[in-house]
Amino acid sequence: MTKPIFEKLALIGSGLIGSSIAHAARAQGVVRTIVATARSEKTRQRVKELGFADEVAADNIAAVKDADLVIVCIPVGQSGAVAQEIGPHLKAGAIVSDVGSVKGSVLRDMAPFLPKNVHFVPAHPVAGTENSGPDSGFAELFVNRWCILTPPADADAAAVERLALFWRTLGAKVESMSAEHHDLVLAITSHVPHLIAYTIVGTADELGEVTQSEVLQFSAGGFRDFTRIAASDPTMWRDVFLANREAVLEMLGRFNEDLSALTRAMRSGDGDVLFEHFTRTRAIRRGIVQIGQDSAAPDFGRTHPTLTEAKKD
Ligand code: NAP
Repeated sequence: MTKPIFEKLALIGSGLIGSSIAHAARAQGVVRTIVATARSEKTRQRVKELGFADEVAADNIAAVKDADLVIVCIPVGQSGAVAQEIGPHLKAGAIVSDVGSVKGSVLRDMAPFLPKNVHFVPAHPVAGTENSGPDSGFAELFVNRWCILTPPADADAAAVERLALFWRTLGAKVESMSAEHHDLVLAITSHVPHLIAYTIVGTADELGEVTQSEVLQFSAGGFRDFTRIAASDPTMWRDVFLANREAVLEMLGRFNEDLSALTRAMRSGDGDVLFEHFTRTRAIRRGIVQIGQDSAAPDFGRTHPTLTEAKKD
């Protein structure tokens, strides 16, 4: 057990990320008390039943009372309104952070409503699953995943380090960068891939000549991995694309150019262009495995039935 770094942690939002923080913080003894809340009575009731918080507050204002760490774990489109709501009720000296997948908009929307006597250090744990809600959280979510801090230029260095220590204790690797740079990096590594998955799963669904049952039946061929991403929370992702639209549009422009180049190569039967491109991308995948960002096991480590088992089917 670690010595607590914070006395009282307030979690605004108790979905996948909020509940995972609560589970991990409790497992590591990194805070003395956890207060959680959510927008609806239904979720707050469920949080009470699940018991991962010491207290469930009736609203956001009650949740932040006396908290020395406040983490806002809600869809990014709500950040400004929540900052306005809690701003006047924050404890002097508290650290206020968030977990939003876009950082420029969060900084822009929240900072104006936060008093001068608190430390605002936005953060993004780059860890998640396609599930949402208070039942989906688990303590190990952040282990060996990056948590990117995007402190404003004038942020208090001691507050930034304290938050970094909190995330490291939850198992994350911590990196700091500007909000603008974060949004550009995440646009290509996360946001555009999600948009492609949402698109391709929708396209397959609308195909007249391939029946829905065939799409489901033969979905092992790459499509299945897109469907996992395309099952991600609609509210969260709507907000991400609206909040990071400039960086995503910039990356989509480049993506479309590269897609056109591959389309041209296919049309003109230029196998060399395709082969060289696929060789380069294969090396990128190997690089990701080498730095420990994914398992080297084939097919994402999925287990396969034995031949004897297969015969029974
Ligand atoms: P989630 O599972 O859908 O949970 C969202 C939570 O926010 C719910 O408890 C919801 O309450 C609450 N909420 C919404 N508006 C609120 C408000 N105005 N006041 C108080 N609570 C409010 O979402 P999540 O996956 O945890 O995502 C939360 C944030 O983490 C997002 O900003 C997302 O970009 C970021 N993030 C997500 C992932 C991921 O893979 N999911 C990864 C990294 C970062 P109700 O249930 O009552 O509506």
